[in-house]
Amino acid sequence: MTGTNNGAMAIDVSAISYSYGAIKAVDGISFSVARGEIFGFLGPNGAGKSTTIKMLIGHLVPESGTIRILGVPVRGHTPEVQQRIGVSFEEKNLYMQLSGAENLRFFASLFGIRRPDIRSLLERVDLATRGNDRVATYSKGMRQRLMIARALVNEPEVLFLDEPTDGLDPVSARAIRAIIRECAEAGTAVLLTTHDMNEADQLSHRVAFINEGVFHAIDTPENLKLKHGRRSVTVRTRNGEQASELRIPLDDDGAGERLAAALGGRDVLTIHTEEATLEDIFVTMTGRGLE
Ligand code: ATP
Repeated sequence: MTGTNNGAMAIDVSAISYSYGAIKAVDGISFSVARGEIFGFLGPNGAGKSTTIKMLIGHLVPESGTIRILGVPVRGHTPEVQQRIGVSFEEKNLYMQLSGAENLRFFASLFGIRRPDIRSLLERVDLATRGNDRVATYSKGMRQRLMIARALVNEPEVLFLDEPTDGLDPVSARAIRAIIRECAEAGTAVLLTTHDMNEADQLSHRVAFINEGVFHAIDTPENLKLKHGRRSVTVRTRNGEQASELRIPLDDDGAGERLAAALGGRDVLTIHTEEATLEDIFVTMTGRGLE
């Protein structure tokens, strides 16, 4: 999935930077995303995630570096690429007084699509029964799903999603993650931003840790945990009336002996193993949390 043939990459970014006046929002980041891959940008507020996406979708021009989407160089508005990508950014892009179906028909017309299959789009995001209702009457989760349907209207080869499940209840969030996975399985490259490490962990084939416009790591969630995570086991035991608890790091030398000694001659009450989360690793690598 991480591939070496950059020519085949859906997204290929080399050393891009962007500043708002004196604020360096993005500082020389490079990465690529393959077709069918879900790539998660994980970072706190102000890390530079949105600025990066804006450069990739042509809303901002990088001050240095190069971007290729589907092999086509992108510097600002690039119509040839616009036709082939899908973008879900902010809810305010929906027309509240129109129905869900009317919104989709309108966005399809912007792409010059004469006969969009609105019904199957609505079915894909589980809105078929509410398609004729005004968006103003939709819940937040329904609007987010409509935003995804909107981004899919031109059957994009690359999908950009900014915080796709932000503020949603667990059921709506799960529904949106399932749609994203289906898109990737059908071969779409997906770049999503999130500050939710669980989301990044569950959904992304690879994640990039971004903080203050700089990448601190790019890897699979599993590799990040294996390389940088510290595992431990917490043992609660009782010796007569005396209960005690001991936390033993598993990555240290002699962990096995310490564990055996902790268990020896005592009644074992509970044993819990703990894996480092992506958030722990993010904090270790960047010196700050995700919130
Ligand atoms: P969030 O999760 O809050 O959306 P983000 O990771 O997307 O954060 P960006 O919006 O890319 O971060 O912001 C990166 C930096 O650029 C921040 O310091 C932010 O304050 C600054 N910034 C973003 N947009 C502007 C703007 N229009 N004018 C000036 N500074 C900006």
